[in-house]
Amino acid sequence: MPAATPSKPEVKPLSAPQKALRKLGLDRSIDLALHLPFRYEDETQLGLLRNARDGEMLQIEATVVSCEISYKPRRQLLVVVDDGSDTCTLRFFNFYHNQQKALAVGSRVRLRGEVRGGFMGRTMVHPSFSIAGGELPNALTPVYATSAGLPQAYIRKAVQGGLVQASRSGAFSETIPQGVLPPSVHSAQAGKPQVWSLEQSLYFLHHPTPDVSLAQLEDRTHPAWQRLKAEELLAQQVSQLQAKRERDLLKAPPLALRQGGLQEQLLAVLPFGLTNAQRRVGEEIAQDLMRPVPMHRLLQGDVGSGKTVVAALAAAVAMDGGFQCALMAPTEILAEQHFRKLIDWLEPLLSPLGKRVAWLTGSQKKKERTEMLGLIASGEAALVVGTHAVIQELVVFHNLALAIIDEQHRFGVAQRLALRAKMHDGEPHMLMMSATPIPRTLAMSYYADLDVSTLDELPPGRTPVVTRLVSDARRDELIERIRHQLGEGRQVYWVCPLIEESEALDLTNATETHARLSEALNSCGAASVKVGLLHSRMSPADKKAEMAQFVSGAMGVLVSTTVIEVGVDVPNASLMVIEHAERFGLSQLHQLRGRVGRGAAASACVLMYATGESGRLSETARERLRAMVETSDGFEIARRDLEIRGPGEFLGARQSGAPLLRFADLAQDADLLDWARQLAPVMLDKYPEMAKRHIERWLGGKSDFLKA
Ligand code: ADP
Ligand code: MG
Repeated sequence: MPAATPSKPEVKPLSAPQKALRKLGLDRSIDLALHLPFRYEDETQLGLLRNARDGEMLQIEATVVSCEISYKPRRQLLVVVDDGSDTCTLRFFNFYHNQQKALAVGSRVRLRGEVRGGFMGRTMVHPSFSIAGGELPNALTPVYATSAGLPQAYIRKAVQGGLVQASRSGAFSETIPQGVLPPSVHSAQAGKPQVWSLEQSLYFLHHPTPDVSLAQLEDRTHPAWQRLKAEELLAQQVSQLQAKRERDLLKAPPLALRQGGLQEQLLAVLPFGLTNAQRRVGEEIAQDLMRPVPMHRLLQGDVGSGKTVVAALAAAVAMDGGFQCALMAPTEILAEQHFRKLIDWLEPLLSPLGKRVAWLTGSQKKKERTEMLGLIASGEAALVVGTHAVIQELVVFHNLALAIIDEQHRFGVAQRLALRAKMHDGEPHMLMMSATPIPRTLAMSYYADLDVSTLDELPPGRTPVVTRLVSDARRDELIERIRHQLGEGRQVYWVCPLIEESEALDLTNATETHARLSEALNSCGAASVKVGLLHSRMSPADKKAEMAQFVSGAMGVLVSTTVIEVGVDVPNASLMVIEHAERFGLSQLHQLRGRVGRGAAASACVLMYATGESGRLSETARERLRAMVETSDGFEIARRDLEIRGPGEFLGARQSGAPLLRFADLAQDADLLDWARQLAPVMLDKYPEMAKRHIERWLGGKSDFLKA
């Protein structure tokens, strides 16, 4: 470990829970105050065993009448308690000595847990308990979304502290003018209508009084919830509108479609005709490019809908005008794929013009890179394809006019801004592509700042992918099936699950799966099957080499940790197995499934699930898997994802890059969205100071994000 520099003031290292808070993005007091519970527990009352229904959450005070360790069927602590109305057996499978001590015979304890009215009498498994007799709380107890290393008690305290501090520092001062709040944030109390302020709403939502309707809290129709959602939507709309106004003042080179130009030539050499959707979207983009203000357009389309061609058509227009176009993809494999396709299509058209395609990636040899930089600076490279390397400082464009970003949600703000800054004089047009669609009408009203084009049609000739759920226990049958596919000359993906806490575990797991599969598939004496392995710790060059073997067909099975690079295109792959499918998010599963069914052969996706100790899947996991079986439409999947994902899971959503909303729900809160949309220009024109404070409160340093 390097020694600390003596001249620096000593900085206390962050504790594990502090680090975990930071990781959840809970830095400022206002962030903590806005970290709302995803459910509540009612600890305000004591109940009686006699009156408890099967499955009810119950809090009681009772006396321990026996306490012993049993070894049948496995080691457990069995405690019998009596609350005067009835008895109940408590079971603990994990317990410490001091817990056992606290439950000694004769102790009075307060217990809270789910009562099961079994055949052998009432039981509670792992109830929480404390000494009896303490004062009962007078508000519901919040339960917060948390993460490993961040105990519920710690986060409760941190949130409470954040709330108080935010209050003191004036973070809740009113930022919405009198009289314009939507009707749903009013509640009639004692005859006169009351408007819920943000501060009141937050205090209430963290500690609601027990008389409140839990239904209103759960479906978020309570005025306190409405206030919060209204605030959030307004912040998004105001900041987007502001970004749009700023951008409208900028200049970009107008790019006109030319008869007989590159785009026409490209269309002539494509091995297929465009779908109607591609044609329509191509037209929308062409219209934007003709204007002297920068395009800012999102192209959304399901996996496999053919976004790359649309990008190539736009690139053709820019290059036809004598300008440069940059295409940036999040990984080298993707960049490589684009590169290969675009070269095939465009290079023959560019070379008569004395132009070339250049590429830039992190793992490139110095000599090659220097050569590429030269081509880009001189303008000889009309098209530049690459990874993040494209936005490095050393890269100087001759005349960049169009920047296209694939899988845009995987790039950070800073990166998108850096790309924009590559234009010396004015701004490039920007086309962002995404395969995680939100329903079109919602997208149009939500993105105040972005024009949205949607590819809502797949190219013809695809055979639908059959999706099946298979329990982990049937692994052997699956191996048979893989063998069969390989026998037919097809290829197979095997995706290992992401184990969030531990990259090392992740790797072991994949390595083992890889070894087991190789052995199983090569044990029957038939021709040998090459099984490859792709994981996150490999160098880009190794990844590329492994991938190349799969693409060429030399490799039969590709085992991969986490996500096979989005966008990988191997039409001969006809079977995808996703192990521990219950651990993946819905849109992730959908993206993965999109890797198969790209050729004419019948394809299948097998979602293998394991139920773990409880013996059953969680309700949301089951719903996700069911959705996968029932539909293959990306927009429908997106809709269900919004529906299934409970408020407690928004953190996951945020990590996956969907820059959407924490509190409001686009589908449910259309009225509030309308309200915010109409108020946004009024805020900027008539109440600029309030608007500024409002954005600061909600987006803090993150407002840049909306401009990128
Ligand atoms: P994505 O939208 O997921 O990026 P791609 O651009 O990779 O999709 O296209 C998927 C596949 O479909 C590619 O092999 C591409 O060449 C092919 N494709 C694209 N457009 C059409 C079309 N109109 N007709 C037939 N095939 C097409
Ligand atoms: Mg793509």
